[in-house]
Amino acid sequence: MMTKCYDCMEEGKDSEAVAVCIVCGKAVCMDHAKELILPVSVGKPPEVKRLHNALPRIMCEYCFSNTLPDGFCV
Ligand SMILES: [Zn+2]
Ligand SMILES: [Zn+2]
Repeated sequence: MMTKCYDCMEEGKDSEAVAVCIVCGKAVCMDHAKELILPVSVGKPPEVKRLHNALPRIMCEYCFSNTLPDGFCV
């Protein structure tokens, strides 16, 4: 059984979900998924290294617009 995009379902559409929101666990399609790239840091100041591979995180539109930390730049 395919997982359907929850947001599309609310709009009366029927789309296959490609990701799950990390905040609320809602399944979302490509159109409704918002990808955050979280930089990954290792070490302690002053010797903090940024790892080259940031971690992609998927959020739904609702969580994306409501739960972004202050000052978080996308
Ligand atoms: Zn959708
Ligand atoms: Zn969400």
